[in-house]
Amino acid sequence: MLIFGRFYLLLSVAYTERFDIIVVGAGHAGIEASLVSARCGYNTLILTLNLDNIGQMSCNPSIGGLAKGHLVKEIDAMGGEIGFLADKTMVQFRMLNRSKGPAVWSPRTQNDRSRYRQEAQKALINQKNLIIKQEEVTDILMENNEVFGVRTGIGNEYYAQAVIITTGTFLNGLMHIGLETYIGGRLGEPRASHLSESLKRLGFNLGRLKTGTSPRIAKDSVDLSKMDIQDGEEPIEPYSHRTPDIKIEQLPCYITRTNEKTHGIINKNLDRSPLYTGRIIGIGPRYCPSIETKVVRFRDRDSHLVFVEPEGYDAGEYYLNGLSTSLPYDVQVEMLHSISGLENAVITRPGYAVEYDFVYPIQLYPTLETKLIKNLYCAGQINGTSGYEEAGAQGFIAGINAVLKLQNKNPFVLKRYEAYTGVLIDDLVTKNTLEPYRMFTSLAEHRLILRIDNVYDRLMHYGVDFGLINPQYYELFMNERKAIDRAIETLRKTIIKPEVINPVLCSKDEIPIPEESGGVSLLQILKRPDIHWDDIKIFFNEPIPERIGFRIEVEVKYEGYIKREQEMIEKLKKIENIEIPEDFDFNEIKGLSNEAKGKLNETRPKNLDQASRIQGISPVDILTILIHLKGKPGETKK
Ligand code: FAD
Repeated sequence: MLIFGRFYLLLSVAYTERFDIIVVGAGHAGIEASLVSARCGYNTLILTLNLDNIGQMSCNPSIGGLAKGHLVKEIDAMGGEIGFLADKTMVQFRMLNRSKGPAVWSPRTQNDRSRYRQEAQKALINQKNLIIKQEEVTDILMENNEVFGVRTGIGNEYYAQAVIITTGTFLNGLMHIGLETYIGGRLGEPRASHLSESLKRLGFNLGRLKTGTSPRIAKDSVDLSKMDIQDGEEPIEPYSHRTPDIKIEQLPCYITRTNEKTHGIINKNLDRSPLYTGRIIGIGPRYCPSIETKVVRFRDRDSHLVFVEPEGYDAGEYYLNGLSTSLPYDVQVEMLHSISGLENAVITRPGYAVEYDFVYPIQLYPTLETKLIKNLYCAGQINGTSGYEEAGAQGFIAGINAVLKLQNKNPFVLKRYEAYTGVLIDDLVTKNTLEPYRMFTSLAEHRLILRIDNVYDRLMHYGVDFGLINPQYYELFMNERKAIDRAIETLRKTIIKPEVINPVLCSKDEIPIPEESGGVSLLQILKRPDIHWDDIKIFFNEPIPERIGFRIEVEVKYEGYIKREQEMIEKLKKIENIEIPEDFDFNEIKGLSNEAKGKLNETRPKNLDQASRIQGISPVDILTILIHLKGKPGETKK
């Protein structure tokens, strides 16, 4: 078969070229993967179906949001691009969840869709070591279960030591508007029709998922005076450590609502909905349902919010967030015209659903390398996720692991207690997914530690080690860390007298300190829920920037919880550091598969952490080894 494949190559290859790493797809995953590879000095090729749509935001013109904002900050802290692109193109900034604890605060921006594309394209074009080509990849080339390149639709063959597939919603994409179906990967773009077959021939198990988007409408056809305004927030906090202060005139969003008439129109037309007539077989996103699903699922609700979002400074369209639909075009028009402010709305692009093939992520190692084929990686929506940020995080991890593999270095696998990115990938490769997976703060069991304010403490050292972060930035942030520690120590040591602090406490309706107490530390004062950094900063001799003040407050207020969480993590780490004797015989362990035994005997890990980082060794294997190492009470183990 393979010999035939090679023979076939000799006869029909139009053009060949060799690279170190090839990335298939220039969406949010492909951008990160290709930039990591090129920035680490590898000769990189990125292939995409349309050069003009690099970094296209297929759905809403927005980056970040709950838990997704965390992912953007994490990618940035490790040296990725999405946060920097989002900063350059934002038209509105908001910090979500401010009413809750800072662990779940998350930035969200509205972005200029077309400028985002331009900036993404610029980033790739200007990147040394990176070549961009518009060609459809039709086949993955492999020999002896190791990838060696790709073949494209025009017969070219590109060879590389590693290939990263990031094809989004394009594999066998089928779009639905009402009962009409259209072949394509995204509105106005062709689909990739051959790659799925190639992956199946290689032995991959593919599934089918579905996602949908909302109609876009002409800007001048909307009556904004009937809607609530949602302004951006100041000061703007950039996503990226590379972005200096952002000074822009922010654009507002507007809010309107569906009503009983809208719901009546939807209910009346369910027999023309591809979702409710069985035309769509792919499973859709549970947490981002279409408006028809919301109306059917929540029958008792007489209204759903619709956010009218600007597409950019010069754009002539609004995006209708909350109205994702695949109902027929005429129903979409009728539905919109029933909503306050949208009575005369003109649809510029209809809402639609797209079904596509995906690779069950259980077929991947935590490095995102496939278990079937060496040096072949998958990242982004192809792994069953949904969202730009989830795609970007995976693109970064696949990119850096491809690089580390070429450098014969240890793989890079983030732990669940280190980053949301770690949670995302661990969930995908250990639990698999049967529906579009999106990130939520509730999925992270250590979320108190995984905050956006400490993201550089958590992850920037990795970026420096990879050579992706300028060490000067790191030094800056480490100085900030030292300043915070110093300030907390000062707060702990500074005892403030009742007559000095009580006026502040009374002004905030707080219980004053008893006169006879002689005083209390500033740290104790700041621990009170209604006392903030702003209230006590006057007692500090040195000026402390607002941002650092906020970080001090978070660390002081949540000190007890953070300490408890850290202790739990330390226990986990202790388990990871449990040593495995040099002459330990893994064949003795009954619960391990032969494959695991083979790998462990071959690699000879020194401790459980090293064992957990071996490709193919699962958390269950680690637990099995741990139980064996510890032995039953009274029993001595080697
Ligand atoms: P994409 O951004 O899709 O990029 C894929 C890239 O691969 C493209 O550059 C394409 O040209 C290229 N490509 C594909 N096949 C080949 C090939 N064979 N050869 C060469 N190049 C190829 N996300 C949400 O969070 N919420 C939503 O509600 C939501 N709704 C969506 C609705 C629709 C209709 C669509 C299309 C997407 C939606 N998304 C939504 C998903 C979001 O757009 C994706 O999660 C994100 O863009 C995935 O990034 P990616 O890099 O994996 O793939």
